[in-house]
Amino acid sequence: MKVTVLVPAAGSGTRMGKGTKKQFLLLGGMPVLAHTLRRFEDLPEVMEIIPIVPEDEMEHCLEKCVECQGLKKVRRVVPGGQQRQDSVFNGLREVGPDADYVMIHDGVRPFITKDLIMGLFKAVLSCDGAILAVLAKDTLKEVGKDFLVKRTLDRRTCYQVQTPQVFSYRKLVEAFERAYSDGFYGTDEASLVERCGGKVRVVTGSYYNIKITTPEDMVLAEALLMKEAKEKNQRKRTVPPK
Ligand code: C5P
Repeated sequence: MKVTVLVPAAGSGTRMGKGTKKQFLLLGGMPVLAHTLRRFEDLPEVMEIIPIVPEDEMEHCLEKCVECQGLKKVRRVVPGGQQRQDSVFNGLREVGPDADYVMIHDGVRPFITKDLIMGLFKAVLSCDGAILAVLAKDTLKEVGKDFLVKRTLDRRTCYQVQTPQVFSYRKLVEAFERAYSDGFYGTDEASLVERCGGKVRVVTGSYYNIKITTPEDMVLAEALLMKEAKEKNQRKRTVPPK
């Protein structure tokens, strides 16, 4: 399978409330976006990785997140749009004719793992799209503008959806074209494919696959990075010397 990965990272990061946009904040000395891009570089199924960033950060992204890291599969950077959907569409227009699948992954989810990505690649072979999701841990309520509870959702059937999401290239293009012609905006790509009658399969995600959105997420991210480093060291120590 030939996959192009689109990495939307063109948000303004207002919920982080810092000068630097969250995708460029340093995590263990490296920009968050660089961590995310690196996770896809070594997968043989991935032909190209296309980061989508604010227009005035394109140079910065190339220098600090691509060239510094020696990423060979990032050959261009694309400017983002007004909303997340517009950013992804800008990337989709750059996908080469060889790709038969397109994977979309938030630039601010640096803890994605190879196993989760491979699970999605496998799942999408038998449907139009595959997405990661985890069961909601908290009770979810629909609340009105007046802050009064409208209803309580059944937690056993409520999932929090993550990225990556992967789709057949043709189905995704069709879904985007239909969304724009209907004036529909979704907060993820699956919602566009679903409204075209596409079959989207859910693959169990991970609570470690966090989206860095607010300042407390950076605290968690630093802790997760340390956990990963510790596990890597332990694995190294348990491999017998040759
Ligand atoms: O806003 P949200 O949390 O859904 O953002 C998820 C990802 O989409 C982030 O990596 C963000 O940078 C990106 N995004 C984008 N273009 C926008 C808004 C968000 O690429 N206009």
